[in-house]
Order: sequence, then C-alpha cells, then structure tokens
Amino acid sequence: MSSLSVPLEHARQSGVFEQLQQFELEALHFRSDPAHRLQAIIAIHSTSLGPALGGCRCIEYDNETQALTDAARLARGMSYKAALAGVPQGGGKSVILKPARIVDRRALYQAFGDFVDALGGRYITAIDSGTTLSDMDAVATRTAHVGGSHRDGLDPSPITALGVYSGLRAAVKARLGSDQVKGLRVALQGLGNVGYELAKLLHADGADLLVADIDPDKVARCVNEFSARPIDPEQISTVECEVFCPCGLGAVINDWSIDRLRCKVIAGSANNQLAEHYHGKLLHEQEILYAPDYVINAGGLINVSLGMHKMPAEQIKQKTRKIGDTLSDIFDRSAQSDTPTSEVADRLAEEILNKATKP
Ligand code: NAD
Repeated sequence: MSSLSVPLEHARQSGVFEQLQQFELEALHFRSDPAHRLQAIIAIHSTSLGPALGGCRCIEYDNETQALTDAARLARGMSYKAALAGVPQGGGKSVILKPARIVDRRALYQAFGDFVDALGGRYITAIDSGTTLSDMDAVATRTAHVGGSHRDGLDPSPITALGVYSGLRAAVKARLGSDQVKGLRVALQGLGNVGYELAKLLHADGADLLVADIDPDKVARCVNEFSARPIDPEQISTVECEVFCPCGLGAVINDWSIDRLRCKVIAGSANNQLAEHYHGKLLHEQEILYAPDYVINAGGLINVSLGMHKMPAEQIKQKTRKIGDTLSDIFDRSAQSDTPTSEVADRLAEEILNKATKP
C-alpha cells in the first residue's frame, strides 16, 4: 500500500499541478493498495465552510488523467453545492478506478475506508455512481468519516427527490406562472433511485409522466404504478413537454440536444447536465428555464450533512424544501440581470466561498 509519493517530474507530466490550479483545489490525495486492488483519488476543493463532503465514485476510466479530472471537477461542484445549500461543509470527491474484476468487494471498500480515515476528517465520503449503501457499511468499519450507510440510515436518494420536486415547482412557477403540477407533461429521463421517487411525488400531484430508462423493468414499474407513458430513451430529451427532468446521465444538454429541446423548464437531479458552460447561455437565449443541477439536487447532501449533525428528519425535510426558495431567488436575479441561471448560481456560490476564505 502506498499513499501519495509521486515524483515531481511525474506529477508535472501527468498534469497533477495543472488540475490543482485549474479547479482551485486545496489538495489531491492518491492511494494504491495492490493487495486489495485499490487505486483511489480524493480531491479536496475547499474546507473553508467545514470538512469536505462528497460521494465516492467507482466507475471505469479510460486513464488516470480522466479519473483525476472527474474527481477535481466534482469536488469543486460539491463546494458550490454546499455553499448554496447552506450546510457547514466544504467540497470534496473521491474516485476509485474500478478494477477489471472485483475479487473481494468488502475488502476493497475497507481499504478505501483506511484511505479516508488517514485524512483525519478533512474529507467525509458517501455513495455516488457505482457505490452502494452496503459499500459504505464496509467503509464505516474503518472510519467514522462516512455518511449514508445502513448504520446511520441516511439514504440520500428520497431526500434528493424531495428537493428536486420543490425546485421543479419553483421553476414551473417562474416560467409558467403557477406552481401547480397537475396536468403538466414531465419528461423523466432515468428511473433509478431518484427518478423513481420523483415520479411517485409527481404522480401523486397529478403530473402527466413521460418516462424513459435503458432498463425496461424500471420503465414497466412506472407505467404500472403511475400510468406513465413510455418514451424511447433516444427521444426523451426532445419530446414535447413542459418540464424535461434529467435524472440519469450527465451532459444531456449538449450540442446535439440544444436545438432539439421542446420543453420550457429543465429541472432534474442529474449531475453536470450542461456538457459545456456555454450551453447555459444557449438555454437562457431560448427562454428555457434551467434549474442549476447542483442547486436542485442538494437534498442528498443536506440529508447526510445535517443527519450527521443529528438534526431531526422533519427539520431536514424542511431545509430541503427551501431549495425551491433558493432557486426562486436565482431565477429572479437571472431575469433582472438577463444572465443565465447557471452563471447566477456560480457567482452566488463563489461569493459565499470567498467570504468564508477571506473573513
Ligand atoms: P441510478 O443509477 O439509481 O439511476 C440512474 C438511472 O438512469 C438508471 O435507472 C439507469 O438505467 C438510467 N439511465 C442510464 N442511461 C440512461 C439513458 N441513456 N437513458 C435513460 N436512462 C438512463 O442513479 P440515481 O442515484 O438515481 O442518480 C441519478 C442522477 O442524479 C445521477 O446523475 C446522480 O449523480 C444524480 N444525483 C443523485 C443523488 C442521489 O441522492 N442519489 C444526489 C445528487 C445527484
């Protein structure tokens, strides 16, 4: 096992310092533990508002640089998310480079738990793409710096869905003049942990659901339970509707989809919905109201952060519903200054972080 001891020349060649500067990271940590097939990176963007909190991804990467960039980009996003959610956390993220074959999954995550523990609480981990609550149970056997395991009962997904629901209503009110969901056509892309919970809330309030997932069982469940209409996954982003709700992949607003969208509002849980920064500007020009992803999907973070601080569940829900108020403020500022909502959110988050760094 070895923690960061990258020779300076190698670090320069692999762009480590470039990443630190480009994403304004406080620190990058690496660990290789061949006995458990662990290769992991922890990126810490900021601890000025509190210990860095952010999930652990375990996915396949083409190369190490791609993994590094993913961790760095996501860590910065977590700082912005925590700042606008008003929770006492900084931003961090970890990635495990998924091994070709996982021999002992529990041992892998225990080894990752040792890595997290070695940072002494500057970084707190949680689930993300490719990791589960059971993986976090294994992490929790080695470190206290983990939120969202079966042990603490802080499953983020239902609360994320609640926050998205509240944000979606705020967006609909700002764009269409009423926050009534009844009769609205909502095109839901991705019916996993968050998408399914969100479909339940939308259906209960009378929304007309159009749904897509690459997993036909998940589609069938929503068709049966919520009378949803199935849509081809290739077409869900371009179907005519009031609200497009991305809850699956990132980068769904891209050069291909931007001219094909037929919605008035985009409000969903997926991370990194804009493929490029300029897509936020193009949405603004097309009068499609975009609820910035890291603002609307902060419910899971709120749940883990405040749950670890022992806040009662009902108060956590109340705090999560305030995501709608934060978004209403962003929509007002965007309209008044004729600035894309994505840029308004970034500026607000940066103001909060700058104030915390330079008191
Ligand atoms: P998930 O893996 O449970 O669900 C994602 C779903 O998207 C899956 O059902 C998958 O089959 C589907 N999907 C994948 N490719 C698709 C495609 N091309 N077309 C249609 N569907 C497709 O993940 P989740 O936990 O529900 O999270 C969904 C999104 O929200 C992710 O981007 C995640 O990063 C983000 N997010 C989740 C949380 C949370 O609390 N779970 C919090 C914040 C952000």
